Amino acid sequence: KTTIGILGGGQLGRMLTLAGTAMGYRFVTLDPAADAPCGQVARQIEAGYDDETAALELARQCDVITYEFENVDADVASLLERESYVPQGSALLYTTQHRLREKRAIEAAGVRVAPYREITSKDTMQAAVSELGVPCVLKTVTGGYDGKGQRVIREANQAVAAYAELAATGAELVLEQFIKFECEISVVVARSTNGEIKTFPPAENIHVNNILHTSIVPARVPTGIQIEAQKLAAAVAQSIQAVGLLAVELFVAADGRLYVNELAPRPHNSGHYTMEACATSQFEQHIRAICGLPLGDTSLLSPVVMVNVLGEHLEGIIARTGQADAEALELGVIPKLHIYGKTEAKTGRKMGHVNLLCQDVEEGLQWIEQTNLWRNKNL
Ligand code: ATP
Ligand code: MG
Ligand code: MG
Repeated sequence: KTTIGILGGGQLGRMLTLAGTAMGYRFVTLDPAADAPCGQVARQIEAGYDDETAALELARQCDVITYEFENVDADVASLLERESYVPQGSALLYTTQHRLREKRAIEAAGVRVAPYREITSKDTMQAAVSELGVPCVLKTVTGGYDGKGQRVIREANQAVAAYAELAATGAELVLEQFIKFECEISVVVARSTNGEIKTFPPAENIHVNNILHTSIVPARVPTGIQIEAQKLAAAVAQSIQAVGLLAVELFVAADGRLYVNELAPRPHNSGHYTMEACATSQFEQHIRAICGLPLGDTSLLSPVVMVNVLGEHLEGIIARTGQADAEALELGVIPKLHIYGKTEAKTGRKMGHVNLLCQDVEEGLQWIEQTNLWRNKNL
């Protein structure tokens, strides 16, 4: 039987393992944490991601290797490519690890990104701010997530300070025009080793403190925009010859224009809704894509709202789902809880999520309000 290796042992690796195990695959994960969520459901090699001996062991034990995060060390990626089979390839990582390379690749696919400038000095920063105007946002080109490594510049006189702060990290920098979006959406697209492409329905994403809070599907944007977003995502996946899943984050501007914000070459938090709401989950689809199986049907079976369970929500949501849920019954909402098995429930840490199957997404949103676990969030 085929054994699949996963670089990284977080919740994405865990959900890939759970989906793939049901399909008959075996899994090995490489992760330094003794209590990694994936290690509870897969065999684990407990070592650092840049440990070449451990990577070789992973290659020896596995027929196919994938990853659940994009910041895989380039040397380890090429070692794995030499010693095993990495259908996604290292070029996809090379592109998506670096915001400038990523933007150029998106543009090469004929898809719009926010106007941007490469920033290499205080002078290029000042010139770029006057060209792009304010507000704009300065980002480190590598390593950022959950809004880390970003500074929003609202007045031109904040430019130098923002530059000094982020330049001190030693990272390369990019300045982007701030898009005054109506909403943010994302499309998870799969491209298989055979070149087949399928997109999932777009999710409307609401962030709180730069962390994804809620995904709403169908997204509350016109159907034409949803179709356009799926087309753009497929065009990017095709153009960069992605294999496996590619999550495409987009801004919807007031004039209906779509801008791609960033890409992630892996399962995405905004795709968790697919677990119960689509005919095929994003995790099954990823396995299908990298193993060369025909891609699964991506139809939406039910409207759904996904809400993340952070450390501060964990106890409350477990208590709640352990009881008869009168409000859910009343609203016609079916809550499906997914817990990742992380030991420490720190504030702001993603511990799980709930998929709320509903007749209409407004009912799912109402359920979130009524639980009182997610306070004062304006959805
Ligand atoms: P993630 O956790 O999604 O990987 P990240 O740290 O890589 O986040 P981005 O996705 O680039 O960061 O930005 C985080 C959020 O900041 C976006 O979802 C969006 O709300 C806002 N943002 C980023 N860039 C822009 C922009 N150019 N215009 C408007 N809003 C932006
Ligand atoms: Mg990102
Ligand atoms: Mg993002």
